[in-house]
Amino acid sequence: MSSNRRLGKIGIVGSGIAGLAATWYLGDQFDVTLYEKHASIGMDAFSTDFRIGDQSFRIDLPYRVVKGDFYLTLMQLYKEAKIPLRRIDYAFTMSKEDGETYFGYKNLSIFGKYVSTLKMVSLANSYNRKMTFEMLRFYRHGLRQNPGRLTMDEFLDQHKFSNEFRDKFLYPIYATINTCSYKSAGSYPAASYIEYHTSGTGVAGVYHTSHGTIDVAQKLSAKAQKIRYSEPAVKVVPTAKGAKVITDKSEIEYDHVVIASQANQAAKFLDAENLAEKKALEKIRYEPSVIYTHTDKRYMPRDRKHWEPASFIVSEKFDKPAGSLWLNALEPKLADAPDLFQSWNPLFETEESNIVNTARFERPVMNFDAVSAIEDLKTLHARANRKIWLCGSYMRAGVPLLEAGVVSAKDIARRIQSISF
Ligand SMILES: Cc1cc2nc3c(=O)[nH]c(=O)nc-3n(C[C@H](O)[C@H](O)[C@H](O)COP(=O)(O)OP(=O)(O)OC[C@H]3O[C@@H](n4cnc5c(N)ncnc54)[C@H](O)[C@@H]3O)c2cc1C
Repeated sequence: MSSNRRLGKIGIVGSGIAGLAATWYLGDQFDVTLYEKHASIGMDAFSTDFRIGDQSFRIDLPYRVVKGDFYLTLMQLYKEAKIPLRRIDYAFTMSKEDGETYFGYKNLSIFGKYVSTLKMVSLANSYNRKMTFEMLRFYRHGLRQNPGRLTMDEFLDQHKFSNEFRDKFLYPIYATINTCSYKSAGSYPAASYIEYHTSGTGVAGVYHTSHGTIDVAQKLSAKAQKIRYSEPAVKVVPTAKGAKVITDKSEIEYDHVVIASQANQAAKFLDAENLAEKKALEKIRYEPSVIYTHTDKRYMPRDRKHWEPASFIVSEKFDKPAGSLWLNALEPKLADAPDLFQSWNPLFETEESNIVNTARFERPVMNFDAVSAIEDLKTLHARANRKIWLCGSYMRAGVPLLEAGVVSAKDIARRIQSISF
């Protein structure tokens, strides 16, 4: 134990990336106790080891990726924690429900850099050309606009993009990045889409952790003094000295408590003493989704020559796209294994025997209600004598990604560190 630990005791509720990052930033100076409702670190709780023949493979669920120039705080954290990243090819195709592809590009590897090239199918008929030309107009012209406080729906109307481009191209991509419905994607501030897309994938590339999420979980949680697995917090209440985490098994007082669970869970922990926080958290709506790892090839283009690492199947029957990753193209260890996919939002009935693992997630809808909640929470965080803090990917306006979780955790860690003990 480092002597600096005597600075105080911190309880952190939740071991997603925000709780892990808070543990990393605070763990050298404080005694950190991490609470997680799952039996393993939350960020890695759904990953699975599975066997092909006599070989065992660990598959992350979800298979998260990061863009080199968008995730600056996360990249710095991974560097400090010696978590290596591997550049991946993340080219994608878009197909109809019957598997007919209408848009796609591939990445050519030239001198170690990827150069994106449109697939011919993207120009093959008038429908495909319309999608491609509107896409080029959106990325060339649309992304240079200042959207002010417009929603995505309003922004696309104002710039006269067609409904087809919105429904068959842009929203399938955006709804997948946010794991939400098309309707919710349309309610996002246009500024969040523009921010995400103007920090380019082209130059810095797209990455995945070389040793999977388990490496992140192990290295970041190593700074916790104690991890209380399978011990969900039931209440977090202020005390004269700090704050207390109450579970079914224990009641422990800390100098500070960082709540790094989802906002809708955090709202349940808080009582009358933190009514303003609770009300702000309740403004953030969540949408559920199902993600599964499987062998069903219908989630890829019908014509195998169009297969790329990412594939979107867009069907008018559903309010969400099916976004799939072809894991063999992303993971060198699976290069010679039978085809394996990970899909968000099942569109087809798939036989049980084709499914490797399934998980249900909830994702915050970062619309203008969420933006207003963040403003309220920031004002509350600035009040004197705070002992209960909130962080998570929902605490930053924009797409709720790993970067937002780390940025919010770093902010809370700095605030706690600036208080004299
Ligand atoms: C399908 C999918 C794909 C994604 N892909 C990407 C991607 O490619 N790149 C990217 O950057 N982001 C991606 N994301 C988003 C990213 O995973 C999230 O933004 C991020 O994991 C959120 O981290 P967090 O720590 O804020 O919250 P969470 O990860 O939700 O962590 C909250 C933790 O709190 C725990 N908890 C809840 N209640 C309690 C309780 N009562 N007591 C104790 N613990 C509790 C939970 O079990 C969980 O471990 C994806 C999300 C999904 C769903």
